[in-house]
Amino acid sequence: MTGTTVTGKHYIGRFAPSPTGPLHFGSLLAAVASYLRARERGGDWLVRIEDVDPPREQPGAGDEIVRALEAYGFEWDGDVVWQSVSRPEHDTAGATLLRERMAYPCGCSRRDLADAPRSALGIIYPGTCRQGCDAEETAIRVRTTDDPVGFKDLLQGRQSQRLESESGDFIVLRRDGLIAYHLAVVVDDYLQGITEIVRGIDLMDSTPRQIWLQQLLGYPTPDYLHIPVATHPDGDKLSKLTGAKAIPMHGKRRVLAAAFDALMLRPPADLAANSVSDLWAWAFNNWQIEPLVMRTAVPVDADAMAKLQNPVS
Ligand SMILES: [Zn+2]
Repeated sequence: MTGTTVTGKHYIGRFAPSPTGPLHFGSLLAAVASYLRARERGGDWLVRIEDVDPPREQPGAGDEIVRALEAYGFEWDGDVVWQSVSRPEHDTAGATLLRERMAYPCGCSRRDLADAPRSALGIIYPGTCRQGCDAEETAIRVRTTDDPVGFKDLLQGRQSQRLESESGDFIVLRRDGLIAYHLAVVVDDYLQGITEIVRGIDLMDSTPRQIWLQQLLGYPTPDYLHIPVATHPDGDKLSKLTGAKAIPMHGKRRVLAAAFDALMLRPPADLAANSVSDLWAWAFNNWQIEPLVMRTAVPVDADAMAKLQNPVS
């Protein structure tokens, strides 16, 4: 254990769920992987609840996630951080982008953009308001270019996007006054000194936009490690079967062992017979990222699946 990153900084990782629902198996995998990785690196592991989108949130879900993490034996460093607390810093960053003309007000409504071209990332903003806009209610969009924005993911290899063609200028402050996810996450990772981000592969295509914001704001870019999505043995996404169902509070040890198995740590068949702290001790000793390299999906075996759907202590 070195406690430092390749560039010599103290390792700080995080798990940053949105409180749109309880902790489910997919988010548990991201929590487990980021936790084990931080322990492997001898670093800190922070928990941040990304509560900046109240319309999408479920009342009480943030507290419920924290309680579930506690029950599953996670030990985080410092207090849980609620992202809404750093709203003043999000606004400062937005104001900097505007002042430096790296961003501009956009009055386009959803209807105005109905005919805009689309890519895998969603609507490609056609740049309508780049030269100015006199609408009263506006969002703030950040300017993009077509220079490739790339990074080397520690699991998935080289990734790159041309933002102007693939997403167009994107929103950092919404018309309804809420801060957009990309800006909030970038500012908070910077404020917390995060050196490496371990999260689900479903967020990988948003990474170039976040790196672009880091570059514009003069923040360092952390390392990235995007873990594969868990699937049913037949390839169906697990979320389709288990939905956003909360991980159970009974049968925790079996679910935790299933998570280790999904992360390809090959837990012994009787591992779940041990205590939660013994399970973690086993995982600290057996964690490695190599089996996950270049994998975009990992099947959860049928047995573990059954335990997940019908957990017994
Ligand atoms: Zn516009």
